[in-house]
Amino acid sequence: MTEQNPPLVVRGGQLLDVVAQCVRQADILIAGGCIVEVGQPEMDAPQGSVVIDATDCLVMPGLVNAHTHGHSSLGKGLGDKWSLELLLNALPWAGGGLTLEDKETAAQLNAAEMILKGCTAAYDMFFEFPTPSEDGLRLAARAYRDVGVRVQLAPMMADTTFYRAVPGLLDSLPAPHRERAEAMAAASHQEHLAVCAQMLNAWDHDRDWARPALGPTIPLHCSDAFLIGCRDLAKDFGAGVQMHLAESKVQAVAGITRYGKTLTAHLDRLGLLGPRFVAAHGIWLDDDDLKLLQDRSAALAHNPASNLRLGSGIAPATKMRDIGLVFGIGTDGSASSDNQNMFEAMRAASFVSRMHSPDPATWLSTWDVLNAATIGGARLLGMGGTIGQITPGFKADLVFLDLANVNFVPLNDAANQIVNCEDSSAVRDVMVDGRMVLKDRQFVNFDYNQLRLKVAAAVGRLAEANVETKERMEAMAPYVAAHCVGLACNPYHVKRTVH
Ligand SMILES: [Zn+2]
Repeated sequence: MTEQNPPLVVRGGQLLDVVAQCVRQADILIAGGCIVEVGQPEMDAPQGSVVIDATDCLVMPGLVNAHTHGHSSLGKGLGDKWSLELLLNALPWAGGGLTLEDKETAAQLNAAEMILKGCTAAYDMFFEFPTPSEDGLRLAARAYRDVGVRVQLAPMMADTTFYRAVPGLLDSLPAPHRERAEAMAAASHQEHLAVCAQMLNAWDHDRDWARPALGPTIPLHCSDAFLIGCRDLAKDFGAGVQMHLAESKVQAVAGITRYGKTLTAHLDRLGLLGPRFVAAHGIWLDDDDLKLLQDRSAALAHNPASNLRLGSGIAPATKMRDIGLVFGIGTDGSASSDNQNMFEAMRAASFVSRMHSPDPATWLSTWDVLNAATIGGARLLGMGGTIGQITPGFKADLVFLDLANVNFVPLNDAANQIVNCEDSSAVRDVMVDGRMVLKDRQFVNFDYNQLRLKVAAAVGRLAEANVETKERMEAMAPYVAAHCVGLACNPYHVKRTVH
């Protein structure tokens, strides 16, 4: 038990203080997994305290990944020129057929990559087909815990297939693709909601480590009855809801066609938006949508690298900041943005914010980005009072960056260099809950080589099992692309791409 361990004192390091927006020399006293005191160098510590030498280190709060998909970590690098819609078309082979053990392996790999790259908590929309399962979610939660990442776990769900969700897509497919797409079926909303109710009822993980949430994936993929059911379950259990919202222009255009209003207005009409609601991506939101999210105290997970990777567009993050909408930064899953590197995601957030205006004063600053990737993300996970800051009373989730790493040589401005230079190679040690989980870039309690073997075995088996599915979906892809490009060429009242 952490409580029985002697206090720790981190000495000699430079501290990244995101609240005060400064970097300064400071020692940190830790007991019971929490930060007790942040003080001057050489401050007093209780007798028997174990000293952690942070000389030549920058100590920063563990980064919080606001949006990922643990099940898709096995899919990194599978695709190249995929739009979101081509990715969705590929998913049956690019992420299909996982056994329970594969799901655990995938979640472990996702968590391991995050720890190696300085991230200690995540909001994971975890997918299982045809419905979530209690076993799958339990194993995913355990996998994150084993590696040392806190997680908000939202089963990702749909009661409508992609082919029925996109207006006109089914009719645009020639035989035999149309028959195949018609034959695909999603589980009913009643089946999904029954599993979720059971999961929420039976959840017995330590909520400091793993919390349950709901992830009805995309408005167009979820019937109104399903969304209302999710809304009510979330309310009954005090659970969060995360959804992909207006991620692609295809979705935004289809939302107007389907609902006669924007996707955000549609969700608001159904009563989904509230303090526990997190919109992922939110690229194709207009000013009214953003204001609606802000008025309802909802939040947003900004995934700038994924948005570039899929050609989805540039989300209006400077507007989010300007109106006070809480937002975090996410990597998205590795099938769509192929790694779990929050340093890259931060840099992308910083850089793409420069595309909204020629006036540099309006761009996201280093501190805007660092704030979103720590304090903002913590609030999205409902952990705003416990993680994301190096402040007394907060959990001791700390990342030690090696200042001898070339990214920090010379050390001109540590905060700017975290956002503009660092690529995770300076991550030396990672502490979660007052315990080192990574030391000198080696996992302390977790066998990475064994994980590699499990991953290789799973990926080999899945590739073989999915050969036919891959052939079928790739044959369908040109038709999906043609239809979706046609939809994306329709006018829309905001512009988020340069074409
Ligand atoms: Zn996603």
